[in-house]
Formats: sequence, structure tokens, C-alpha cells
Amino acid sequence: MLDILRRIIQEVNSANDLQHALDIIVERVRVNVGVDVASVYLTDPENNQHVLMATQGFRKDAIGKVRLNQGEGLVGMVVTREEPVNLDDAPSHPNYQFIVETGEQPYHGFLGVPIIQHGKVLGVLVVRQRVSRKFDDEEEAFLVTLAAQLAGAITHAGASGEIARLLEATDEVSVTLKGLPGAPGVAIGQAMVVYPLANLDAIPDRKAADIETEIRTFNEAVDAVQDDLRDYANRMSGSLPAEELALFDALVMMLGSDSIVGETVERIQAGNWAPGALRATIAEHVQVFEAMEDAYLRERASDIRDLGRRILTHMQSDRPPSRTAYIRTILVGEDISVGQLAEVPAGMLVGIVSASGSSSSHVAILAQSMGVSAVMGVADLPVNRLEGQTMIADGYRGDVYVNPSMLVRKEFLRLQAEESALTEGLKKIAAQPSQTPDGVSMPLYLNTGLVFSDIESPVYSQGDGVGLYRTEIPFLMREQFPGENEQLRLYRKTLEAFAPRPVTLRTLDVGGDKMLSYFPVKEDNPFLGWRGIRISLDHPEIFLTQLRAMLRASVGLDNLTILLPMISTVSELDMAMTFISKAMLELVDEGEEVHRPPVGIMIEVPSAVYQVKALASRVDYFSIGTNDLTQYLLAVDRNNTRVASLYQSLHPSVLQAIKQVVDEAHRLGKPVSVCGEMAGDPAAVLALLGLGVDSLSMSASSLPRIKWVIRSFARSEAQELLAQALEMEDPRAIRELYNGVLEQGGLGGLVRAGN
Ligand code: PEP
Ligand code: MG
Repeated sequence: MLDILRRIIQEVNSANDLQHALDIIVERVRVNVGVDVASVYLTDPENNQHVLMATQGFRKDAIGKVRLNQGEGLVGMVVTREEPVNLDDAPSHPNYQFIVETGEQPYHGFLGVPIIQHGKVLGVLVVRQRVSRKFDDEEEAFLVTLAAQLAGAITHAGASGEIARLLEATDEVSVTLKGLPGAPGVAIGQAMVVYPLANLDAIPDRKAADIETEIRTFNEAVDAVQDDLRDYANRMSGSLPAEELALFDALVMMLGSDSIVGETVERIQAGNWAPGALRATIAEHVQVFEAMEDAYLRERASDIRDLGRRILTHMQSDRPPSRTAYIRTILVGEDISVGQLAEVPAGMLVGIVSASGSSSSHVAILAQSMGVSAVMGVADLPVNRLEGQTMIADGYRGDVYVNPSMLVRKEFLRLQAEESALTEGLKKIAAQPSQTPDGVSMPLYLNTGLVFSDIESPVYSQGDGVGLYRTEIPFLMREQFPGENEQLRLYRKTLEAFAPRPVTLRTLDVGGDKMLSYFPVKEDNPFLGWRGIRISLDHPEIFLTQLRAMLRASVGLDNLTILLPMISTVSELDMAMTFISKAMLELVDEGEEVHRPPVGIMIEVPSAVYQVKALASRVDYFSIGTNDLTQYLLAVDRNNTRVASLYQSLHPSVLQAIKQVVDEAHRLGKPVSVCGEMAGDPAAVLALLGLGVDSLSMSASSLPRIKWVIRSFARSEAQELLAQALEMEDPRAIRELYNGVLEQGGLGGLVRAGN
């Protein structure tokens, strides 16, 4: 039975469309379970009916015509009970219903199994036997397993509109997909699908079936990659510095030279298939470059690897990844990388729809700072079928509308208009101070990490400085570690743009979900692994280079603050401080006019919450990273869609932890800032105001609304609310409390479905 099951599942998974998958199931089930009839009914949610969609044994013309109302017949009973119904004499059951259209005779043996996904009954898989038959446990288990497989295929088809097409037999179908709010705003545009690059190392050797075809496929892929690279360089020419652009020319040249192409063709001619031949050639070249003395040339190994992956991606897909951006592009993908954001020319990106991640994923955070709406964690996103489709991404509610009707489009255009009116209203308070009605000043800083275009944005004149510059973002957008001078230029630009306002540069925080392609780390548990300061301390050459660049960037401006991420123990902080002193001494020796900047640490690991006293004596201030603190306190992966509803930043434990940090730090005379997403969430800001934090740092797009909150509520009022919140046990009740207060204060428009 197991073997049969495996074969059927394989067939179902490779079926081109849902109807085909259903037909395979009923045919194989009839033969393998040895029954007279096998059928699948699907739920039509519009009409609340169960519709016969595939059958072996009943008359084919009944397909689509037999429609049972909710709870009707034995099929309806399976749906209602949400469990298998196994009867040896169906006609004697009170729910039995005779259906003429199927050509049904009184079948006695009946086994119906619900098809369930995420707690929703999508349909029923039914087998029937003319004579009396009680199906045994193994047969029941067999059908339950198949039904679970079918549930995946059906959900996928539902997401792509196929079910609606099957049920309604129409072509123009609107589909709504559910995800999580990622970045606020409503985007209306066209889907540009991006795919992850293929994994070259996993390719095995295989005998080429037809050498000429393999060579042709390979050459076509090489041409396509060259076109992509030229295209990419053209698009980025306005927003990338010349030295970055030169990289694309270098890659195109590498492909133009004979070595990679020629050697791969030779390997194919010797009998290997194209992907295997490519893997071997790339591996050989990578080895040669990695063994080179010159550091620059050594780094070219990663370019070669990247080229290999790009060629393989083209060879593996019938439809190579699209590089077409639309005037209003919504980037769609299984897992969109920060680098892929850069593939859309400036000004054309309006939205992001990702199958994975949540509002605290880095792509979402970046989207927030770019003012681009994002919907994350859209389970069963049928990426392969979305290229070019019209879409609406509602980043407030986490909804995605594919091919929306005129009515829906109109409604969202109206919403967009309302939104810009709100933005206009917010602009009016831009020049006013961030101060509560009872006179408490709450400086509002910006979170950023972008290298180009955003620095000129007018929104940057609003903040009181930069509270968190994520230096890993420029690192992520490169093909190799940036050197000291390159980093110096980058940091200097930011420090200059904001001077005399302070700029907090956080040292490299890679690891976890921020992996550098040129510094791969493979771990089973990356969020608990080699991350943030742990990597910096293990790599003095990277850490010192970065510290030197930061210190040099501040010469003459003196508006730098250094922030250390992921401190979990005092000795890490001591070591980091030693490196800062070392970098200072080196630079002083070299005659640079450097001054020791204020240094702070992120409180984002629970252990740090309990060591504030020891840490406070070593630093100038604390910045609470509520994104990681929430994930580590609640043991909820911040990027895992499945547990996203458990990721609640207004959880009583999170509030208690922040309270403990603020109270203890204030007792010791050290200020506390919050730079996680909570600082940009209006309801959470009310809580933070009550908790007594001294400043907030958030993405530019959140800043105006947060200022509105600060200007609307007295700290004393926030403290009273906090006392109530701290008495509560349920995070949802706490959020409701704060949302209610925002609404009463006339700030209902700011209430969001956040966690
Ligand atoms: C945080 O963890 O809250 C934070 C601000 O850092 P990041 O989101 O970059 O991990
Ligand atoms: Mg963090």
C-alpha cells in the first residue's frame, strides 16, 4: 500500500492542473482499493454546496451538476463531522440520499473522507461498493493520506483561481489570498515574480541523453544570463555607484571568455549532462580563484559561483525568471531577498507579496522604510501563475487580490486617496515637536540601512537623527565584504546627511535570517547560532575594519553613536569594548582626529534583560530590540508564518521585560531607547510611553503617525493605561485596550491589525 501511495502522490504532484490531479486520484483509488465508484466532491464556498468534480464509476456527465447543499446526504455528513464516515450498508443510514444524475444504484459500502487544510473542509473523497463492505483500517488510512495530499493541491489551485474557474467555468476570476500585514499602505500594480537562484552544489552527474540538445540548452542559458546582467546594469545605473556597476561588466566578460563556456561544452561532449558539466566547471574555477594570493581576486570566486547559479536557474526553468519591471511593480516570490528589491528600478516598486516571512522580516522592514506596502507569509501563493497579473496588496490587513474586479479596484483607489489625505494631515505636524501634552519630550529617530536614493528623501528632515542604521543591509547588497574605505564613504554620507543630529551605526548583525551570500553559514538553528556580535568577535579583521571606518567617518562631525547587537553576556561586551579601544588607538596613532563616541548595546536577548546592572556600568545607553526580544522571550520565530499569530509584542512578558530594563537602567542613570518594530506601532507606543522609555526609533513611514500619538496622549495618561495593561493576562486584550483608547482619541485610522 505504501508504494502505491507514494506513486499516486508523485503523480498528483506532477499533474498540470487540479482537474487532472482529481482525475488521477479517482482512477487510482478505484483500482487500488478495488471499489466500484471513487469520487471527489469539492466545496463551493460561494453557494455553500458540495459539487461532484471527478468520478470513476458514476456517469461523467454528472460532474459539475451534482450539487449537495450543506449537510445534505452522506457527503454532507462527512463535511459536518470533519471525520471519515465508514458504513457497510449506506442506504439504511438516515442521511442517505439517492441521487439520480449519477446513474447511482443503491451502493451499500460507503467510505467518505474529508479533505481538510488549515482546519477548513475543502471537499470529500468518497468510495462506494455495490455490495455490503466495511472498509478496514488500512484502507481508511490510505484514503486519509491521499486526502491530505489532495488538500495541498486544492489549496494551491484555490489560490490561483483554478477552483473558481472549475466551479464557475469563467476565465476572469478574482482571487483573494490571505497573508500578514508586512508594511502599511495599499499597492495597486502588476506582479513581477522573482525566483531564488538555484543550488548548483546539489546537482549530480548524469549521462547526457542527447549531447546536441544539452549543448544548445546550455548556450541559450548563457546568452540569457548575459542579457540579464546587461539589463540589470542598465537599470541600476542611476542608483548604484560606478564601481558596483563595473561588476556586471566583469561578469558579462567572464561569460564571454572561452574558459567557463568552452570547458562546460567539453564536459558535455564527454558525456555529462549540462547541469552536471556546469557544476564541475564552476567548482574548478572557484577553487583556482580561492587559492589566489590577492584578496581581491580571491573574492572573485563568489562571482563565479553566482554566475553558475544564474545559468543553472535558466536551464532548470521553462520560464526563466522574469526581469521585466512594470510601471507599478508588485514584487512576488516564495522568499524575496533584499538583493531582489534592488532589481526593480527606483520609483517603480509599489508593493511586495511574499509567501514567507512576517512584518519583522528584514524585507518587510526595508519595505517600511522605502514606503512600499508589503504582505508577508501568504501561504500557498501560486507564484508560478502570477507573472504580469494585476494585483492589489493591502499591507494594512495582509490581503492580496489577484485580478481584482472593477468594484474592488475602485474601492482601493478610494482608500489610496484617503490615505494620501491622511498623509497630508500628518505633514502638518511635521514641523511641530515630538512632545506629549504634559510636556514630555520623546525624540523620534529613524531606522534605516539604505545606501542610495533614500538619503535625499524629504522625510529624513523630520527625524531627530538615526536611531538604528543596520549596517548589514549594505553588506547584504554586495558581492563581497566592503573594505574600510568603501564603508567609510558609506557611513560618512549618512553622518553628513544628518549632522549635527546623531547617527547610530549598529555593527554588523548578520546570521539568523540575514545571510551574506559570500559568507555562508550553515546551521540547524541559525537564530540561536552564530549571529551578530558573535561573528564580529570571532572575526577581528571584519570587526576592526568596520569600527575603524565608523570612527573615521565621524571625524569633524562627531555625531556618531555605536550600537552593538545581540549582546547576551557581559564578557562579549567587554571584548567588543576592547576592540573599540583598539581601533581608537590605531587611528590616533595614525594621526586621525577621532573622538570616542557614545556606545550602547541592544537589549534583544532575554539574558541581557537580567543583567542590566552589570551592562549599565559599561555603556552609555540601551536600545531595546523588541523584534528579537519578542521572538526569544516567546520562543516564536519572527519569520515563521505558521506561528505568526503567537508573535505578540504586547504580550504581558514582553511588557514586563521592558519595564524591568527601563526601571533598572533609569535607577542607574542610563537612558533607554526602543528600536524594534514596536516603536512604529501606535498601540505599542502608548505602552512604551507609559513604560517610560526615553526615545523611539522607527522606519520613516511610521514617524508621522507616531508623532501624532505622542502629541495626543499625556505620559500620565499612558501610565494609568499601563497599570491596567499590566494587570491583564491576554495579549489580545491588551491590544484591544490600546486600540480602544486610540479610537476614542480620534486616532482610529492609526489602529492596525498588528501583533
Ligand atoms: C530588533 O531585533 O528589534 C532589531 C531592531 O534588530 P533587527 O530587527 O535588525 O534584528
Ligand atoms: Mg535584532
